[in-house]
Amino acid sequence: MPELPSTPPSPEDHPADHYAGCPCCDRSRISRRWFLLGIPALAGLLSTRLAAGSGDPLTHVVRRRETLSGIASTYGVTVQELAAANRIANPNRLQIGQRLVIPQPAPAFIEYTVRRGETLSAIAARHGTTVAELVRYNGLQRPDRISVGQVLRIPSSGGPAHPQLPSPIRAQVEGPSIARGRWEWIVIHHSGTTLGSARGMDRYHRQERRMANGLAYHFVIGNGSGMTDGEIHVGERWTRQLEGGHLASYQLNQVSIGICLVGDFERRAPNARQMEALEMLVRSLLRVAHLRSAAVTTHRLIHPRHTLCPGRHFPTEAFLATISR
Ligand SMILES: [Zn+2]
Repeated sequence: MPELPSTPPSPEDHPADHYAGCPCCDRSRISRRWFLLGIPALAGLLSTRLAAGSGDPLTHVVRRRETLSGIASTYGVTVQELAAANRIANPNRLQIGQRLVIPQPAPAFIEYTVRRGETLSAIAARHGTTVAELVRYNGLQRPDRISVGQVLRIPSSGGPAHPQLPSPIRAQVEGPSIARGRWEWIVIHHSGTTLGSARGMDRYHRQERRMANGLAYHFVIGNGSGMTDGEIHVGERWTRQLEGGHLASYQLNQVSIGICLVGDFERRAPNARQMEALEMLVRSLLRVAHLRSAAVTTHRLIHPRHTLCPGRHFPTEAFLATISR
């Protein structure tokens, strides 16, 4: 849901168009103590732990004065990789004592054992790659002769093909040509209401919240009450590439694509069709907006003190894991 700022912004600093507000936001407010750590990390204060079991992930406990970038450089990973592995929306906010998982570089390939009756082209198709790629990767002299039990290396970037958006929606989503760097985040919200539609939200944001560009989100996904279940509405803010109005921060609205799923996920989880639509939409957006999966976040992850949106039953962790594959 759009966020109501705690203090009314001055029109100069924050044009009214950036705020939608929602009666459900107050109900979703929580208080949580966050420590703001902006001072560069001091060498020697690092607290590291290499897990005893080889299967356990490498972790790091945040100490006072450490920054995410300092920790990232210590382990030779990027800030974005570290943020993604730990679902950190705002890299400037770390909690003292917070345990961070240090991501390990993904292997460049997976190993696959050929089974009876399989052909190279079938294996390539199943893993979203090509025969030429497999030939090159495995140095195969005779691609027509692979044997049962033979181990092939398959580039890990290839995976099972993901479901695609229906073509009319895909054309709308992928229509705008977008410069690299135009968008930085994809933020997931719920409406906080059991029923709703893009049209209703647009009217509310335009008339009640006085937002000149109407619908505060770029996309709305229906739940069968007010809109068809799993239906994706592509808003004008997307087709015209306008900033969002779904976050309290003016700066974040400039670079954050907003997706709202109709439903109150404090009460119950989104349904399978909504989640499928969300996955297809997000994958498509990542591609067209030149973003990595670390850019996908939720309203609560980006503003933990202000909101519970998209609700406790939204499967944040599972969804972020899915989208990173
Ligand atoms: Zn929200």
